[in-house]
Amino acid sequence: MLATVLHKPGDIRCEEIADPKILRPTDAIIKLSASCICGSDLWPYRGLQPVNAPQHMGHEYCGIVVEVGAEVRTVRPGQFVVGSFCLSDNTCPHCRFGFQSSCEQREFMSGAQAPYARVPLADGTLVATAEVPPAELVPDLLAVSDVLGTGWYAADAAEVREGSTVVVVGDGAVGLMGVLAAKEMGAARIIAMSRHESRQKLAREFGATDIVAERGEEGIARIKDLTGGVGADSVLECVGTGESFDQALACSRPGGTIGYVGVPHGVSFDGQKLFFGQKRMLGGPAPVRRFLPDLMDRVLQGRIKPGKVFDLKLPLAEVAEGYRAMDERRAIKVMLEV
Ligand SMILES: [Zn+2]
Repeated sequence: MLATVLHKPGDIRCEEIADPKILRPTDAIIKLSASCICGSDLWPYRGLQPVNAPQHMGHEYCGIVVEVGAEVRTVRPGQFVVGSFCLSDNTCPHCRFGFQSSCEQREFMSGAQAPYARVPLADGTLVATAEVPPAELVPDLLAVSDVLGTGWYAADAAEVREGSTVVVVGDGAVGLMGVLAAKEMGAARIIAMSRHESRQKLAREFGATDIVAERGEEGIARIKDLTGGVGADSVLECVGTGESFDQALACSRPGGTIGYVGVPHGVSFDGQKLFFGQKRMLGGPAPVRRFLPDLMDRVLQGRIKPGKVFDLKLPLAEVAEGYRAMDERRAIKVMLEV
């Protein structure tokens, strides 16, 4: 089959590789209904994460099961499934505590920017729908697999609840999904920090009540202004830089909570600032598996349309253009037709 392989930073190709096959009795093989490019795929693409050997890219997926290993019990060929980018058994103590992304058997999904993919730990990872959903819901269900699940976790970790005042730092796909999540969780006020017009527009569509285009000290001052000098109950940190973390901490009220899902690069904390600031923090790789049944249900009911985050659709053969478009921020998120 033709699939996406990263050879070295900047060198992404759609090329012939062997079809995936069952390697362990707990595996499943799926035929993808669609795939996409993640912001985190840009780290190795940009050379900010080492590429030691050609990598099969792609960890966001949904599709039809075509084959299962001998020990797979909960999914069967013909079913439409969605899974998380973290593969988990869903039975170990961490999974049962709701932190499937720290599963004792955790692996990270790869190879999903392709027509077929192998999903290890299929029973614990995949959630099947009752029926094969209509094609128009595929982008929404694909978004659940990572980008919505991660934005949702940011809001959940930030303890967003009915009536909350929320600040979302970051207007990438995950930040926009964080806005949608905060809205669904009943936040009264959702302030999206964004400098880009197309992203501001989408943030409003997803439920943002205010937009703050300023950053740094000016941005913090605007948030203080908008919250009567108090700060936000919940802050979603969806970037992962030192500047964005400082902004998130400064926008949070004493006793407020920061949910952080941007993978930190060059971030450090001042212990005394945290101590006297009285800030709560929870983050990490999102335990998307915990949220999958609920989020899939919201999509199938037509309550939410997270697939709107895909603003560029390309055939798999043009995957290199997809990476370029996201790298140059010409596209928020690229969907790949496989
Ligand atoms: Zn587990």
